This record gives sequence, C-alpha cells and structure tokens, in this order.
Amino acid sequence: MDFEAAREKLIDELKLEGIKDVKVLEAFSKIHRDLFVPDEMLSESYANIPLPIGYGQTISQPYTIAIMLEALGLKPGDKVLEAGTGSGYNAALIGHIVGSKGKVFTTEIVPELVNRSKDKIRGVGLKNIKVVNCDGSLGYAKEAPYDKIIVTAACREIPPLLLEQLRDNGVLVAPVGSRHEQRMLKVRKTGNKLDIKSLGFFVFVPLKGAYEP
Ligand code: SAH
Repeated sequence: MDFEAAREKLIDELKLEGIKDVKVLEAFSKIHRDLFVPDEMLSESYANIPLPIGYGQTISQPYTIAIMLEALGLKPGDKVLEAGTGSGYNAALIGHIVGSKGKVFTTEIVPELVNRSKDKIRGVGLKNIKVVNCDGSLGYAKEAPYDKIIVTAACREIPPLLLEQLRDNGVLVAPVGSRHEQRMLKVRKTGNKLDIKSLGFFVFVPLKGAYEP
C-alpha cells in the first residue's frame, strides 16, 4: 500500500473541496492517518470517510476535520481543548499546528481509547498534548481559558461550561442537533456576546452525558 501517494491524493481532494488553510493542509501531510486507524482498516486509511475504531466510535472523515480545523483558525501557540479524543488523530493534527509553544487538552470518556490514543500520540512524537479521561461536556476547567475549543461528538446544545471556558474572542466549533444530523456551529465569543455561524450539516457519534442528542 503506497500511503504517501494516497495521502497526497487525499490532500488534493481536500483542496478541491475548498480547504485553503495551508497550516491545516500541511498537518494532513505531516500527521499520518494510517498510524491512527485499526490494523484491519489500514488499506482505507486515506479514504475520505469516517472509519470504525472500536467501542462503537469512529475516526472522523478527513474533510469534516479539515472544515473544523480551518474554522477554528488555529495558530502556533494556541491553547486548545478538544472533547472526544477517539483515535487521537485530530488532537495530533491540532498539536502539530499549534506547535511547541501551543498546548492541546483532549478529553475522552472511554478509558480504553484514552490509553490507545496516548500511545498513538506518543508514537508520532508530539509532546504538547494531554489526554484526559473525563466527561468532555464539562470541559477541563483546570486549564481554562482556551483560545479554541472543538467538540468532535454530536450534542443537543453547546455545553455551557465549554462556552464558559472559552477565552474572550476565542472560537468554538461543535456539531449541534439531533442524533441523526447536526449543524456544525462556529461560535465566536466577544464579551458576553456570541456570534454564531452554521457551516452546514454533518453526522457525528453522540457526546455522552447531559448534552447527548
Ligand atoms: N476526534 C476523534 C473522533 C471522535 S469520535 C478522532 O480524531 O479520532 C467521538 C469520541 O467522543 C469517541 O471516542 C467517544 O468515545 C467520545 N465521547 C463521547 N462522549 C464523550 C464525552 N461526554 N466526553 C468525552 N468524550 C466523549
């Protein structure tokens, strides 16, 4: 399997689909998705589709991740919170973009996925990512506020604690809606005002807990 060629093809596809942020495209080239998918799915690593990672969970579709990361407007040095570590792939992409001066805190509710993603992240050599085993709908208050927050599981509404833990002028991206379909919301917080934009419809696995759709 020629992963290099498959990766280049996927990046071309992301560009064709409208992804322009060079930092995001570069991260897709540097962080190898094949290292985060289960062995039995290896041949599908660079297909632009979500893939099962066990425990009823998925590694998100590359295009969906690209849309979210571009909407966040990630910069080197950003402090980022993710809810839903899953495979750890998205956290690794973010970790690559924010660089050694940035930091990623990512929360995961399934203990087995916490352990597996920690190993995978260690494997790609990123040291600026902390995986936390907790209910991500509560955020991670200990390290708040965050420049950017990303939720990678579907919620009924944006968990208020996440908005609280977002820095003034920070950006949050989350799929909000029903179990079957969610609208990707991009929220910018300025003072006590929220500027909310929709980025279209997507389908995610549910965020467990109080905001489960
Ligand atoms: N970002 C992931 C994909 C996320 S799939 C990746 O790059 O692979 C959604 C993940 O959210 C699943 O792993 C699921 O176990 C986790 N999850 C669901 N409810 C959660 C909650 N309340 N808190 C933290 N993680 C949760």
